[in-house]
Amino acid sequence: MKSGCPYGTHRVISPKGVLPQPADIIDNTMEIYDNEVLIDVKTLNIDSASFTEIEKRAGGDLEEIKKIMLGIVEKAGKHKNPWTGSGGMLIGTVKEIGPKFQGDLKVGDKIATLVSLSLTPLKIEQILDIRPKIDQVDIKGQAILFQSGLYAKLPADLPEGLALSALDVAGAPAQTAKLVKPGQTVLVIGGGGKSGLLCLYEAKKRAGVTGKVICAEYSEQALAKAKQLNLADEYLCVDATDAVVTYEKITKITNGELCDLVINNVNVPNTEMASILSCKDDGTVYFFSMATNFTKAALGAEGVGKDVNMIVGNGYTKGHSEITLQCLREHQGLRELFQELYA
Ligand code: NAP
Repeated sequence: MKSGCPYGTHRVISPKGVLPQPADIIDNTMEIYDNEVLIDVKTLNIDSASFTEIEKRAGGDLEEIKKIMLGIVEKAGKHKNPWTGSGGMLIGTVKEIGPKFQGDLKVGDKIATLVSLSLTPLKIEQILDIRPKIDQVDIKGQAILFQSGLYAKLPADLPEGLALSALDVAGAPAQTAKLVKPGQTVLVIGGGGKSGLLCLYEAKKRAGVTGKVICAEYSEQALAKAKQLNLADEYLCVDATDAVVTYEKITKITNGELCDLVINNVNVPNTEMASILSCKDDGTVYFFSMATNFTKAALGAEGVGKDVNMIVGNGYTKGHSEITLQCLREHQGLRELFQELYA
């Protein structure tokens, strides 16, 4: 058995010298190196920005979506959407473990990988089912976890689909839990979506009774999801691609004070400026959205003279899976809604 690099560089085919995530093509031979784990994949949870883009490209046709997905994996050896650069994650069962892999896994364990599909060697034999509403795709296939790859054993007290959908966005509520301080004003853009709802819950918990949590959403329908669970103090129906209107509405709601923290959870491009303008000077904007454009955010903030801290949406922060699953355990309504919508 060949020995592998902990970061999986041994699988990079091109360009040489890069890590598996930025690589264009990786080796998806399902024969493990000595520090890898082989997984029988059950379901892929495609990143929302990626799935939305593929669905649009396919004109909503399921057979076309299948073709695009198979084409991506065939070409790249992984499911890295070439148009968004993003991936998603998967659940499956551990089939084989390399003798040098360090971790607490055993064959037969059901796990969710917490590293992006954009770097995970993947082979799809067949696409069995696509659930477009929740970006989940059941497949017959296999994947490889590198030594450095994060994973979570699926909890016994939550259904698999529920855990998968929440863990896909685990970085967002966990970062929210760390960023929000008591008494702060927090805006969650895309608050009625999957990661948005979890962020609202954490933000309200951390901001406390003296804080203010604002949920901004594109449609009344999405806003209703947050409203029915009473997850925010204020609800705003607005198109965040319209920066000026969003800014005016946030100015009004906050009596001109703007927000200490803005969390961007949308799945469409061009919402950078609404986020930046809604934030106070010296406040923080956390761009969890994969549709965020670094250039637009950086030059846009400079262009309007805003001194804000901007955080790139690292999908990982310590304890992210525990914090996220705990949200569902703590809030019965949130858990039921997630079960209904995403599981
Ligand atoms: P989601 O459930 O699809 O939620 C996105 C929400 O944004 C929806 O409620 C949507 O409303 C709303 N929205 C769309 N356009 C809007 C607009 N113009 N103005 C205001 N709201 C708008 O997505 P998710 O699963 O929570 O993911 C959110 C983002 O995080 C995506 O970009 C995803 O790619 C990214 N992500 C990042 C990481 C990471 O590691 N950083 C990991 C996973 C996902 P409608 O439904 O009404 O359109």
